[in-house]
Amino acid sequence: MKLLKEKIINEGKVVDSEVLKVDNFLNHQLDINFLNEIGKEFKEIFKDIKVDRILTIESSGIAIAYAAAKYFDVPVVFAKKTESRSLDEEIYESQIFSFTKGRAYKARVSKKYIKNGENILILDDFLANGRAVLGLKSIVEQASANLSGVGIVIEKGFQEGGRLLRDMGINLKSLAIIDSMEKGKIKFR
Ligand code: 5GP
Repeated sequence: MKLLKEKIINEGKVVDSEVLKVDNFLNHQLDINFLNEIGKEFKEIFKDIKVDRILTIESSGIAIAYAAAKYFDVPVVFAKKTESRSLDEEIYESQIFSFTKGRAYKARVSKKYIKNGENILILDDFLANGRAVLGLKSIVEQASANLSGVGIVIEKGFQEGGRLLRDMGINLKSLAIIDSMEKGKIKFR
């Protein structure tokens, strides 16, 4: 996606050879018009699959999922990372190792919000080693729902997630794939 690549080049900051910061438009401040284009693009890419719900993970996935949901006309469910007394007792949960935080956390979704047999599209901001997507996939499986696709805004192709998920036969599509960020220079696939 040309617009996304331009945003990454013009506004992204390479933190080190493995971490990209896109706080200016995706992870802290949100560029609403840009997010709308992302939502439209996901709909175009996944126009041929059946989607009953979009599943993501808080917090950065929410804005992306919201933008896409307008075009799919389906609800968004986001997995919660923090324990809360207000969360239903009947939940699906999975353990995820966080690439950015360097530790594991639990993702939880109420059983009310994913139903047996539904077609689920997972959306997220980044793909690194694939742990977040695998955790969400496990929640989809616990609910006996179908994973119809996985959409990622920025895949870091030099980390193992993309290969891992594609080898599993997952319908994975990324709007931009970065092949390297050595010496602060971003190279796209
Ligand atoms: P994975 O689970 O695929 O290893 O990592 C994906 C998750 O970690 C995403 O949900 C994203 O929030 C975070 N993440 C991974 N790499 C980056 C990165 O380079 N920049 C930012 N901002 N987040 C990342």
